[in-house]
Amino acid sequence: MRITVLGSGDAFGSGGRFSTCLHLAADDGTSMLVDCAATSMTALNRTDIDRNGICAILFTHFHGDHFGGLPFFVLDAQFVTRRRAPLTIAGPKGVEERARVALEAAFPGSSTAKRAFDLHFVEIAPDRPADIGGARIDAFAMIHDERAGPCLGYRIGRDDRIFAYSGDTSWTDQLIPLSRGADALLIECYTVDRKLPNHLDYQTLSAHLHELAARRIILTHMGASMLAWTAELPVERAFDGLVIAL
Ligand SMILES: [Zn+2]
Ligand SMILES: [Zn+2]
Repeated sequence: MRITVLGSGDAFGSGGRFSTCLHLAADDGTSMLVDCAATSMTALNRTDIDRNGICAILFTHFHGDHFGGLPFFVLDAQFVTRRRAPLTIAGPKGVEERARVALEAAFPGSSTAKRAFDLHFVEIAPDRPADIGGARIDAFAMIHDERAGPCLGYRIGRDDRIFAYSGDTSWTDQLIPLSRGADALLIECYTVDRKLPNHLDYQTLSAHLHELAARRIILTHMGASMLAWTAELPVERAFDGLVIAL
């Protein structure tokens, strides 16, 4: 499994970074996105990723910096790449209705327009794992903003490897089983030490690092203070274009 971090930034474009989007490519060539932000078509177009080869988009929650790219992806598939293969859209409870509303808000009429490909919706929950594009997806409840949720973190199993991703969250003990034994954990870290009810800061995270039993820990979703902070850390920082080969 090969993960390309297409967006490692926050919601506000801090540091000129793209908002969250990950491209996961399996050894057999199947690929999917995890989150697709309003900035993600630009990020995708900077790569040679075949957009028609993306079989699914898996969303962690419904904030625009994770979910806002869906209408653009669907219209690009319709009018630019002329997609024919079905596209799976997976995410927390309510994903189909959220997608309809997002499509209609961005491009009125697009939610009911005739397309040459089908959209399949799959709801995922902590008690409802799923197989998406050949990957086993286990969900964990995160603490972020229930108005944009349920907010989920995922363990994604493929090719005998496990990739864990927190999505957006403040500290929750659910991050412990989420990361246990994972080959890599990508975890949000928005601020250095400013405590927020819905995001992680490095100070809090560092107090829990010993509980996160992943082989590799990489920080993402960094806001301005994290980006400006150049201290040496015992964990990696993601950047746009980082490739995590598992
Ligand atoms: Zn969020
Ligand atoms: Zn976010």
